[in-house]
Amino acid sequence: MSFSSKRLTIIGVGLIGGSLARALRRGDSCGEIVGCGRDGAHLQKAVELGVIDRYEMDIAAAVSGADVVVVAVPLRAMVAVFRQLMAGLSADAVITDVGSAKGCVVEEARAVLGDRLEAFVPGHPIAGTEKSGVEASFAELYDGRGVILTPLKETSSEKFARVQAMWECAGATVTEMEVQHHDEVLAATSHLPHLLAYSLVNTLASLDERREIFDFAAGGFRDFTRIASSDPVMWRDICLENRDAVLEVLQHFNNDLRQLEAAVRDNDSDAVLSVFKRAKATRDNFCG
Ligand code: NAP
Repeated sequence: MSFSSKRLTIIGVGLIGGSLARALRRGDSCGEIVGCGRDGAHLQKAVELGVIDRYEMDIAAAVSGADVVVVAVPLRAMVAVFRQLMAGLSADAVITDVGSAKGCVVEEARAVLGDRLEAFVPGHPIAGTEKSGVEASFAELYDGRGVILTPLKETSSEKFARVQAMWECAGATVTEMEVQHHDEVLAATSHLPHLLAYSLVNTLASLDERREIFDFAAGGFRDFTRIASSDPVMWRDICLENRDAVLEVLQHFNNDLRQLEAAVRDNDSDAVLSVFKRAKATRDNFCG
């Protein structure tokens, strides 16, 4: 199915929303792209960068006449956006989101969207960087990357196909997944690594000799902690909104770390080597 939209509205023109607009602009699939957010200066910047055609500060006005509405705000801002967009939503519009956890968004959509729930296609692009804001957005972000869609039993198959076509037009490959499964998988592959990166940087920063520690921090530190430069508000929202799945995988990690700690304390060379060998083989296989 090819994708076209007469008017596509993006609420939250930051890294993810801005990159989607830029990606879609590479073709001529959108008649007009309208942006919306809280800060007029950010939206004016998005117009100047050619990311959106125009903007509205009022959410109902922004979605008026749009046939596709993409909600790309932080997780804890979603419910208020859903509430406000209902006043301006066109009869044939499809609504999708990009939130990094899906259970919380689906629960809020169920509470607010009423009989328009059939138009809602929950989504999550598995792409991003540690940067935020429209200035950090770029057209190639989704090229060759995955997007997970987690449709509800109420979601119309025609609306699902439209959102799938939109992401394919932006360069991505779409996979369908059940909501809870999505949240468990992402807790392990994305949310846990962010928690660990934030925590490691804080541990090092709290050591007495931190000046020296950061002076001598090498590539490994940079590689491991790059994602600790990500937006703290966004990651607070993700950790707390996907709390159960995050806690479960964190418990797993803590057990494994305690076993490694014991192996080091006991000078158990075989155990330490076996952990490192298994991890290296797994990563080499995954990246290779
Ligand atoms: P971002 O660059 O900070 O963009 C968020 C945008 O939302 C900003 O343009 C902001 O503009 C707007 N916004 C914030 N609060 C709002 C509110 N209450 N009402 C209306 N607009 C609001 O963040 P992002 O990285 O694009 O993340 C957006 C969403 O994508 C999040 O839900 C996140 O979970 C998801 N996601 C992120 C990544 C990633 O790696 N970054 C990957 C996949 C999915 P104003 O400040 O002008 O309001």
